[in-house]
Amino acid sequence: MILEATKPDSDAALDREFNPWLAAEARFNEAATLLGLDDGLQKVLRSPALEMTVHIPVQLDDGRLEVFTGYRVQHSLARGPAKGGIRFAPDVTLDEVKALASWMTWKCAVVNIPFGGGKGGVICDPAILSQNELERITRRYTAELIDIIGPERDVPAPDMNTNEQTMAWIMDTYSMHKRTTVTAVVTGKPLNLGGSRGRVEATGRGCLFVTLQALRKFHMDPAQTKVVVQGFGNVGGKAAKLMHKAGMKVISIIEWDGALYNSNGIDPEALMKYKQATGTVVGYPEAEAIDKHQAMFLECDVLVPAAKENVIHSGNASKIQAKILCEGANGPTTAVADKILEEKGIFVIPDILANAGGVTVSYFEWVQDRQGFFWNEQLVNGRLEEIMVNSFKDVVDYGERHKVHNRAAAYMLALDRVAFAIKLRGIYA
Ligand code: NAD
Repeated sequence: MILEATKPDSDAALDREFNPWLAAEARFNEAATLLGLDDGLQKVLRSPALEMTVHIPVQLDDGRLEVFTGYRVQHSLARGPAKGGIRFAPDVTLDEVKALASWMTWKCAVVNIPFGGGKGGVICDPAILSQNELERITRRYTAELIDIIGPERDVPAPDMNTNEQTMAWIMDTYSMHKRTTVTAVVTGKPLNLGGSRGRVEATGRGCLFVTLQALRKFHMDPAQTKVVVQGFGNVGGKAAKLMHKAGMKVISIIEWDGALYNSNGIDPEALMKYKQATGTVVGYPEAEAIDKHQAMFLECDVLVPAAKENVIHSGNASKIQAKILCEGANGPTTAVADKILEEKGIFVIPDILANAGGVTVSYFEWVQDRQGFFWNEQLVNGRLEEIMVNSFKDVVDYGERHKVHNRAAAYMLALDRVAFAIKLRGIYA
């Protein structure tokens, strides 16, 4: 129906629906209107506090000099230093980085950790660059950002195509400039360079905690709960493993190259071993192969999209049969699809809440680095659970009080908290 309505220029309509900047704006507008946020504060929160573009000259392995363009955006510093990942990809744009930075502001505010939102990116193709070239890009990019990052200003983390090693290079470059080791300048570092225990599983574990809360709310028994997970990487793989351990039945796993089904449940740890050995989930003998395009629409209790953005959109949202949608990925649902899911009565645990376990343990990493005192994994997981459970309750209670769906509630709560901090500081008075 909705696709019909947009048919005259449906490609353009879908492009708009998938545009990250417009998606962020749609959610912001909805929440700001519902909150009755005054025009001045809307203006402040609509524009990033700082956008920086750098052109990084880097010598390639073959001796040629190349110039890469990089960005760092700090959306809001009202509640603390900016926090957010750095991605390396050929299609990075300033608009995308701006949208993702604002997303981080709302995510940190929803889980009530003392950070604002930031994001960064370098336009490059890691698939064709050597480790040495990536190291040179990372170090030069860091040197260009030296005045705007730091434990008290802006704390980057890994994102698409960046990892622990990238963070170690950033930490080292920053420390060289500061003439002292500053581990708290980035999170997502290797354990023996000031990383936190529990960080690798944190996002998937956060998904588990909020899903358990949703099951409890609807008096559903985890042992009777059927789960479908899209994306068997860091977030989806860990969420599947932990949900299986909590007694749920992971009936389907969807990857880019195929999908698996077993009505009795798939053992994610055994599948992970198979994937590590073969490079794919396809051919796993303990489950049957099913159509990867249809698997997301299986009847289930919990659907965890944990692969990429815009997978649930105006063209397919009506086919989702899950009772609970736990958004492991960032932006898996478009703003247009929100309305369809709401009409279908699907209980959505929105991305800025569901996948906030990662940034929460990043916060713990920053705290531990600054204390120089490291926690055991039990303490990390216990504190993560406390934050995720409280945040779930905050969002759901807020939604019920204001009679809005969970995503609107999460954004309203976040906007409210950031606006309150701005008013309290009085910096714009
Ligand atoms: P990842 O690369 O480890 O895993 C993604 C997985 O999805 C891969 O196995 C990939 O093969 C699969 N995939 C890609 N396209 C697919 C498709 N069309 N259908 C099915 N599967 C597909 O990445 P990740 O770190 O798990 O991140 C996944 C999502 O979660 C992203 O949106 C990311 O921004 C978000 N996220 C990640 C973290 C984190 O801590 N890693 C935190 C918050 C949000």
